[in-house]
Amino acid sequence: MEKLINKSESILDVKDLKVSYHTYAGEVQSVRGVSFDVARGEVLAIVGESGCGKSVTARAIMSLILGPQGEIKDGSKILYNGEDILCYDKKRIREFRGGECAMIFQDALTSLNPTMKVGNQIIENLVAHRSMDKKTAREEAIRILESVGIPNAKERIDQYPHQFSGGMRQRVMIAIAVACEPKILIADEPTTALDVTIQAQILELINELKDRLNTAVILITHDFGVVAGMADKIAVMYAGQIIESGEKREIFYNPKHPYTWALLNSVPKLGWKGKQLLDTIKGTPPDLIAPPKGCAFAARCKYCMNICLEEEPKEYSFGDIHKAKCWLYSEELPEEILEEIMEERKNG
Ligand code: SF4
Repeated sequence: MEKLINKSESILDVKDLKVSYHTYAGEVQSVRGVSFDVARGEVLAIVGESGCGKSVTARAIMSLILGPQGEIKDGSKILYNGEDILCYDKKRIREFRGGECAMIFQDALTSLNPTMKVGNQIIENLVAHRSMDKKTAREEAIRILESVGIPNAKERIDQYPHQFSGGMRQRVMIAIAVACEPKILIADEPTTALDVTIQAQILELINELKDRLNTAVILITHDFGVVAGMADKIAVMYAGQIIESGEKREIFYNPKHPYTWALLNSVPKLGWKGKQLLDTIKGTPPDLIAPPKGCAFAARCKYCMNICLEEEPKEYSFGDIHKAKCWLYSEELPEEILEEIMEERKNG
């Protein structure tokens, strides 16, 4: 297939991805023009509230948007090493999914096959994608289960998912995902239902695998603590769009978008004393059957101006990769107003 890009450092380049679901109520525009890239050995964290389109974006990369309800719109591109996976045939998609790109789903209990021994769920991947015979695949499956910290892997390989605890099931999911040494690993809220100790172990495991296999990781989460520990780059999603993106330090120490400010303000800070209430983001995200014509965050933004209600914000750049979509950075806004807002933000 013809190479569409020649950008050696980027293994995955998503361009203007639009995904809709056709429902009885109308067309839900779940993802509305998302673009990002990720390189080998890099961790991109996609953050945002539930329903903002994070998981739908991940499913689109895995070719799991199923018709007729789901639709990836014309003009969307998902370039893997320069090839558009949206042009792959079924055979090539099967090779890509599992073999080159794998996903750790949110809920291991519902994602694992309850009727199949965990070992067989790994072995079938090894046979399909690494052309191993069953005996070699079984030995390799035991080795992989050991490498993700499953004790007594030789015995546990013949057990069913319900015989594992929540943390151990999540490790099994990781074992299945990494069995074929994927070049891209998508982790969709991989630690949501786990306690903090297990959460730390699972994240450490993903980090180790990334370092060992030089895998590109897309980490989907709403937990800024997880992001702080793992990410190189961050994309903040709201109402189906990326409204701010940049390197981790830029987003944490110099965020530009009022939604990113609000998200960061809702995280507890070290050094808080007594009863300090967390900030919340009042209101709810817009209905994506009829998204607002201006800024999608306008109804919840205390800095909303007339133009925000009328026109979708342009994307402004603040460095090599730091970008935000917000009218506050328009050349037409008097400088002193922006300075006042920044001052107010600094003083909490
Ligand atoms: Fe707020 Fe306007 Fe910026 Fe949207 S464009 S975040 S409404 S200031």
